[in-house]
This record gives sequence, C-alpha cells and structure tokens, in this order.
Amino acid sequence: MKVKKDKFNHIIDIYRITVVNDSTIDIVAFGKTRKELLNYILSFYPRIKEGDVVEVKGKVSVYKGRYQIILNGIEDFKLIEKRNFEKDIYFSETPTNIYASRYGKVYHTLKDCPYGRRLNEENIIYFFSEEDAKKLGYKKCKWCEEHEKR
Ligand SMILES: [Zn+2]
Repeated sequence: MKVKKDKFNHIIDIYRITVVNDSTIDIVAFGKTRKELLNYILSFYPRIKEGDVVEVKGKVSVYKGRYQIILNGIEDFKLIEKRNFEKDIYFSETPTNIYASRYGKVYHTLKDCPYGRRLNEENIIYFFSEEDAKKLGYKKCKWCEEHEKR
C-alpha cells in the first residue's frame, strides 16, 4: 500500500493498494470513492497495513501492462483479517523531550545535548515515546544516555 503522509506521519492520501497474488493487482479508486477508501482505512486502529488481508470486488482490467481493479464504491473493499498488529507511529506536533533528525539514526532525550543542539530545526521530529523512536530504527544518543542518569 502506497500512501502519502504529512510530516507527522498521518496518512492523508492513498496512491495505490497492491494485492500480491500470483501476479500483482493494483486497486485504484477515484473521486468520492478514493476519499471514502481513505476514511475507511483511517477508521481502523491500527490502520490497514502491509500484510493484512482484504477483500475486493470488481472487474479486473489492464492498465499500462498492470492488472488493476477500479473500485466502484467503498462497499467493494473490505478488511477481512488484520495480520499486522504493529501500531501506527505518529510524531508529536508539539516539541517533546524525545527528538531526532528526520534523516538521522539517533534520538536525543536532553534539551542541552550538544549533538541534539546541532540538529537543523527544520528537520527535527518529536516522538511521543522512546519506544516509538526505537521502533522506527532510532538509537539513543550516547551523550543523552550518559547524562540522563545524573
Ligand atoms: Zn543527545
């Protein structure tokens, strides 16, 4: 599933959902149905993610050499089974004590960390918890780790 996310990781649009079978089938929706599909997906907590099982009704057609199903309405799309229980991770819209560079691999927990202070403000993301940061592959800054204990 290819989605468009805002800078806080909220899903704001869906580009394409792909069903992997013997061959690959794209599921596409337009206009009102696309909006409804987005709302449908957003109505689940946690969201529909890669690996989940969905049921789709519709006619298969070929577009640019790929199979696709165009949804006529949201009733043609249904989540059957959730296999991916991983919770969605959002960034905080307001600063928290847990922060990192969007492009980095290290997160900081102290505001006065010399490494944390070097980060470009524009690229800083704030996590709700250290667990979230770790799940996204960030490692804790050694300086912060060291100085937190004091
Ligand atoms: Zn640090």
